Amino acid sequence: MSNGGPSSQTILVVGGGISGVSAAIEAAEAGQEVILLESTATLGGRVAQLNRYFPKLCHPTCGLEINYSRMKKARNLKVYTLTTVENVTGERGNYTVTVKTQPRYVNANCTACGDCAQATEAKVPNPFNYAMDEISAAYLPHEMAFPMRYVVDGSVIGTPEADKIKGACKYDAVDLDEREGSFDVTVGAIVWATGWQPYDPAKLTSYRFDSSPDIITNVEMERMASHDGPTGGKIVRLSDGAEAKKVALVQCAGSRDHNHLPYCSRVCCLASMKHAAYVRERYADANVDIYYIDIRAHDKLDTFYQRIKNDPQVNFVKSKPASIVVNDEGRPCVKGENTLTRELYEEPYDLIVLATGMEPAVGAPPVSLTQDDYGFIVPDEGEEDSGMISCGVASGPLDVSMSVQSATAAALKAIQAVKGAA
Ligand SMILES: Cc1cc2nc3c(=O)[nH]c(=O)nc-3n(C[C@H](O)[C@H](O)[C@H](O)COP(=O)(O)OP(=O)(O)OC[C@H]3O[C@@H](n4cnc5c(N)ncnc54)[C@H](O)[C@@H]3O)c2cc1C
Repeated sequence: MSNGGPSSQTILVVGGGISGVSAAIEAAEAGQEVILLESTATLGGRVAQLNRYFPKLCHPTCGLEINYSRMKKARNLKVYTLTTVENVTGERGNYTVTVKTQPRYVNANCTACGDCAQATEAKVPNPFNYAMDEISAAYLPHEMAFPMRYVVDGSVIGTPEADKIKGACKYDAVDLDEREGSFDVTVGAIVWATGWQPYDPAKLTSYRFDSSPDIITNVEMERMASHDGPTGGKIVRLSDGAEAKKVALVQCAGSRDHNHLPYCSRVCCLASMKHAAYVRERYADANVDIYYIDIRAHDKLDTFYQRIKNDPQVNFVKSKPASIVVNDEGRPCVKGENTLTRELYEEPYDLIVLATGMEPAVGAPPVSLTQDDYGFIVPDEGEEDSGMISCGVASGPLDVSMSVQSATAAALKAIQAVKGAA
């Protein structure tokens, strides 16, 4: 460390998805003091919103729960939810980070009994289900939330609904006077694990996302297939609630396209295989068409691809659809040309799922970070000993197992950074 200033051995991890949680636990279990910040009310990130994981199709809570129980044992790990980084000054070994906290309006007395939710009729769009349904204005973010603590939505503060919510709590857990706050922490290294957000389907003008409720995105499909999703796990046409038995999965919706995301997000092909499996498991007589440019099933995930490919009711159409139109019966249709047969098609479906890609969520970071052309946070060339480290999808498109590997590597780099600065 230069300037001979005080050196902090504490590691800050920004983002509490699977990558940030993994990096934080690995560093804490190796003996470092760790602070983990998450901007939303619960840890788990996008993984918590998945119905199941490829390739084994197990439930994401398997992986997350193990991590949460490790976290509970790590006394040198502090977790702050509803918290982000506002400013960073200093250098490796001695960063001063100003963090900003948002009010939850619910303190640690909360037992998650749910009486507050029962007390109000006020509803807000459910962020966990990508606003596909509504939730009480006093809500648990989801049934496996960590921390297991309710949130009162800011929109009801100052209204009689807030008083009803407070009045219903037997444990004095509702604190309507909470306000935004900020405080400084001194840390030696920062791991950026800020993850991704889904590409905005409204930007894909030829796919007319808003023209029918039966055109959804791949992340919405994850929620629709989930038992705690907006349809209770039923895969349906959102227009009329009928079973969706003819489903189109449109690959590279905006990906590998210089007008949108020029890169491949690596996971969308496999996610769509998983979506084909969701539909086929639910309806024995369902048919799924997958429109693709080429299938990218990397490494061992090819076995999962072959399994789906062998299903005679899953049909692979080599084509990048030109457009989506709504026909006279109100059904959305995929239109284009089959690249192999040269046939033109216009096929109606119960449900069309756009496989939109992952774009970095970090936006404009509060400190100068090296980002690639697409906004992913990458190492500074020639600065192997930097105190700024990225992992998971913040560093590039990765699946869960690759994210966890990169998080473990980031924990080690952060330890080296703070030890090297001492
Ligand atoms: C449709 C779809 C299905 C998928 N299915 C699978 C699958 O089955 N199997 C698989 O292996 N992979 C799958 N993936 C990929 C998987 O979702 C990612 O690998 C995983 O989410 C990466 O985790 P992460 O922690 O890096 O990012 P995220 O999950 O995005 O977590 C980042 C966290 O950081 C928080 N955050 C962001 N900015 C800030 C900030 N400034 N301050 C504090 N906190 C912040 C966010 O709120 C979030 O909690 C799928 C992807 C898609 C698009």
